[in-house]
Amino acid sequence: MCIIAPSLLEADYKCLGEQLKIMEKAGAEYVHIDVMDGNFVPNLACGMKMIHGLKDAAHLVFDVHLMINEPIRFVKRIQEAGADVISVHYEACSNVEETLKEIKHCGLRAGIVLNPETSEEVLTEEIWKLADVIQIMTVHPGRDGQHFIEDTLNKIEKIRKRTTETGEWKDIEVDGSINCENIGKVVKAGANIIVSGKALFNGNLAENIANMKQTAVMEG
Ligand code: ZN
Repeated sequence: MCIIAPSLLEADYKCLGEQLKIMEKAGAEYVHIDVMDGNFVPNLACGMKMIHGLKDAAHLVFDVHLMINEPIRFVKRIQEAGADVISVHYEACSNVEETLKEIKHCGLRAGIVLNPETSEEVLTEEIWKLADVIQIMTVHPGRDGQHFIEDTLNKIEKIRKRTTETGEWKDIEVDGSINCENIGKVVKAGANIIVSGKALFNGNLAENIANMKQTAVMEG
């Protein structure tokens, strides 16, 4: 059964707390929070205070995706703000292993994120052991209005195969332009945490979450 993780970035900012409650009631389990620094990605989004302010609004796993350079600098403060999972980009860390260790040291689940052009071969034995979550960007990070990149399916399949062969479970999370048309493909390829933004927040959020969960079961 896969987990739907609505992306806070596309939520209605006039009533964020309410939207978190709707997510929980609709069975979303996670909320995905993109933090952007205007440097690693050409955009700005979300900080510690916002995460902290939303923490008690609903019982959801706070899945924080740091789209920032040298994220190790912020791990402790993001944990204190209320994160349950912190994911960092392979491309943004000068020392990936140390960054993942810092997340684990803070008592959180650690994720490693790969951009569309980054091969799964960068996941060394050590990174593999430290990461609880492998997050695959299915669009280029931090830019609006992109289409799902089909080539990423192959990468998801290879990573799922590695978890099967090694017998070590890893969550595989997909992030970028996932909707009811392509969710079946990513689930079939091996993804089990599905981030979705516009497809959930355009229209009725609760109904859209329910539809997407159902589509994942039927087509995945
Ligand atoms: Zn994200």
